[in-house]
Amino acid sequence: NRVSIPLQAMDRNGDPNRLSVNVNVAVGLQCDDDKVKNSMAKKAYEKLSKHLTTISDDSGSDLSDMIRHDTSDEMDYFAVQSPESGSAIQVAVRLRPFLKAEHLEDSVIEMSGNTVRVVNAENENYNRLEFGFDSCLNSSDRDLFDFAAQDHVYQEMGRPLLERALEGYNVCLFAYGQTGSGKSFTMTGTDTNAGVIPRFVRELFKRFLTLVDIVFTVEVSYCEIYNEKIYDLLSDDKVKDKKTLRIREHPQSGPYVEHLSQHLAENVTEVMDLLQKGTKRRATASTAMNDTSSRSHSIFTIVLSQLRSHTEMGLDVSFSCGSRINLIDLAGSERVGIAGTSGDRLKEGSLINKSLLNLGKVIKKLADLGSHRHKVAHIPYRDSQLTYLLKDSLGGNSRTSMIATISPAKCHLEETLSTLRYAATARSIVNYVHINE
Ligand code: ADP
Repeated sequence: NRVSIPLQAMDRNGDPNRLSVNVNVAVGLQCDDDKVKNSMAKKAYEKLSKHLTTISDDSGSDLSDMIRHDTSDEMDYFAVQSPESGSAIQVAVRLRPFLKAEHLEDSVIEMSGNTVRVVNAENENYNRLEFGFDSCLNSSDRDLFDFAAQDHVYQEMGRPLLERALEGYNVCLFAYGQTGSGKSFTMTGTDTNAGVIPRFVRELFKRFLTLVDIVFTVEVSYCEIYNEKIYDLLSDDKVKDKKTLRIREHPQSGPYVEHLSQHLAENVTEVMDLLQKGTKRRATASTAMNDTSSRSHSIFTIVLSQLRSHTEMGLDVSFSCGSRINLIDLAGSERVGIAGTSGDRLKEGSLINKSLLNLGKVIKKLADLGSHRHKVAHIPYRDSQLTYLLKDSLGGNSRTSMIATISPAKCHLEETLSTLRYAATARSIVNYVHINE
């Protein structure tokens, strides 16, 4: 007999979250008696809860402890409560080296431990500024082609997200910073010095090879948000015929881009080909239109599905889980409201600001909610395409990280400070807040 035990993950308020596990237990017994069947199911559940311990949160408490058997309902219903301790968005700051074209001057940024300090600024007040982050990544004293720097960034910021994704959580990584500060270098990297995304993908497939009893699929999509319009970067349409896509909201799985092409990938090469294809398309469209890529957000998404199965004491146990991995290269954060801009450029500027500003607003609101977990608040997710699409990745049950990229140059100090302030606010978001729109 096959007994189906759907495990519904819930947050602390009883709202379903995105981590849902379906368990099908084949009971090695021919039986019509519900009582016997139920007692077998209970036994199977006890066995299963042992396996669920692989999904645990940072505080070390096992999910199995949080599973309660709901006796008020049918026998085959269990609820899993999400871990109590939510972690904030992990925020790292990455300082790029001086570029060849830049005057080699003294850096205005100093990093020690996890603290960023402003030094050598003409404005004395700035020299007193200090910001703390989860991680400070300093490449300025390294060789420009130092592979260790890229690997270090991956180990600090990419790898923990990979672990989470493998556990069934949705994860999200943003690169935020002014144009030229190293967002693309960090996320994609170069042909000879891979960034976070290629390293993440390589490790993902490597990890799968070591896991037995797991069937997995990897599906890739890649889109761009420019001027509040969404485009498929993996579409076969000619760039000039590209279609605008819309965001729709699924009652369970949340917002998604309608008609965005999904591509099954079997190995690292296939994922990398898709990444390259989309990045190239983004650049082509951009060259045709005044370097738009620095003013657009690109979202590389990997949907990971895992089906685990094994036999335990004659029970055939399997469960599946899915996670969504969003890797986002945000538009340049520089202010576009330069005096004298008008027409399309101005419109474009204000729209970019709309998405980025709204991301800032959402981050700020979530940060303000902070410890008031049960406070009901309006979070303006829907006010821009970016935040609407990422609604479930901000403040929900997913794990979110941000790498804020900065330049060491004096001429960029104002922008650097604005990036540091933005990143510092993001860091104070506490997850697991209850949000009612
Ligand atoms: P953004 O995407 O923020 O506009 P890029 O990633 O294109 O910036 O970086 C601008 C330039 O600086 C590129 O030539 C890139 O190779 C270089 N660069 C950025 N960050 C680093 C770094 N950490 N180490 C070496 N070179 C870097």
